[in-house]
This record gives sequence, structure tokens and C-alpha cells, in this order.
Amino acid sequence: MIGVIFGPPGSGKGTQAAAIDEAFDLDHLSTGEILRGEMARATALGKQAKQFMAAGQLVPDRLLVPIVQRRLRRHRKGVLLDGFPRTLEQARALDALLAKDGRRVDFVVALEVPEEVLVERLLHRAAVEGRADDTREAIGERMLEYHSLTAPVLEHYRQAGVAVAAVDAMGTPEAVAERIRKALNLPRGRASGRGRPAAAG
Ligand code: AMP
Repeated sequence: MIGVIFGPPGSGKGTQAAAIDEAFDLDHLSTGEILRGEMARATALGKQAKQFMAAGQLVPDRLLVPIVQRRLRRHRKGVLLDGFPRTLEQARALDALLAKDGRRVDFVVALEVPEEVLVERLLHRAAVEGRADDTREAIGERMLEYHSLTAPVLEHYRQAGVAVAAVDAMGTPEAVAERIRKALNLPRGRASGRGRPAAAG
């Protein structure tokens, strides 16, 4: 089982991802985390990725895709991808990697929160954490980038007939988890998502 989760910063993605991991018994695969780990260990990849990450740019596919490939092979029982694919090219590369092993993306969850709400949440978080770089303008730019990059990826999977659940992520974590469960046609309760998700939201 291969799932993908999308959610802009401040959408509560971490919490929902953990719930989905548990429901489907998936390993979590966050490319951001993998890259930060490589940087911390100062591996060759980490050193190469560092300049791009520091500049807030995407790490080139020639560096990232082979890493994703190795991790997918390692986690045979299934993964929830977080932060990948971020572009249409990455989505196509992922599909090709999976197809080699007779696998495919089974479902996509996209968390949706109105932009004004996200901006307020992030500004609040920035104030609490004392981060001066998270200005309204910078946040707006990140949102724009998020939408312009992810929208084509969602469309790609919709067109491929993959279950794409676009879920309203406003409200309590429980309410959002319930919407995801319904959108993916999951039976109630944990560890019950053994079938292929059927519905599109
Ligand atoms: P994240 O934790 O997902 O926000 O990722 C942090 C940083 O890692 C990003 O700003 C990129 O520089 C890099 N990164 C993570 N995922 C990808 C990806 N799919 N493609 C390219 N760069 C990525």
C-alpha cells in the first residue's frame, strides 16, 4: 500500500499522517526528514542537498529520487509519502519506480485549509517561537508555491484513477481524521484499512 499526504504548513499534517500510518500499518517516509538526517550525518548526499535546502529550493531529482527508490524497496509493506512527490516530474518518476515492482500509488490525501487561516496560524506560531523570518509576505509566498506545485500532482493522480481525498482540515484533529476515514471509505476503528481505498473526495 502506497499513500501520499499533502498539506500546507500549518494544516495539521503531522497529526493526520500519524493516524493514517497507524490505520493502514504504513511506514512514514518524509523526504524533508530523510534529507535533514543525511545533512546531520554529513553524508555525500547531505552535503550536496544542504545548499539547496538552505536557499529554500527544491533538492534536484537526481539526488532525491534514488534515495526514495531505496527507501521504497526497504519498506515493502507500505509507506505513507510525506513531502514527495512535490512536482509532476517527481510524480511521474515515482509512478515509474513503483511500476517496476508492480506497485502503484493507492491513495492521496490532501488537507485543505483556507489561506487566511493558515497565515494566521503561522504568524501566531512565528510569534510564539520568536521567528522573525515568518512574515505575512514570506508565508504568502510559501503558500503560493505550495499550491502551484501540488495542484498538478493532485490532478495527475485524479486522472490516473487514484483515490484522491481532498479533505477540509478545519476543526478538531478527530473531526479531520473522521473526514479522511470517510473519504477513503475506511471502516471505523484502527488497523482496519487493509483493502484498497475506493472513494475519491
Ligand atoms: P519539508 O520538511 O518537506 O518542508 O522539506 C524541507 C526541504 O527539503 C525542502 O525545502 C526542500 O529543500 C527539501 N525537500 C523535501 N522534499 C523534497 C522534494 N520532494 N523535492 C525536492 N526537495 C525536497
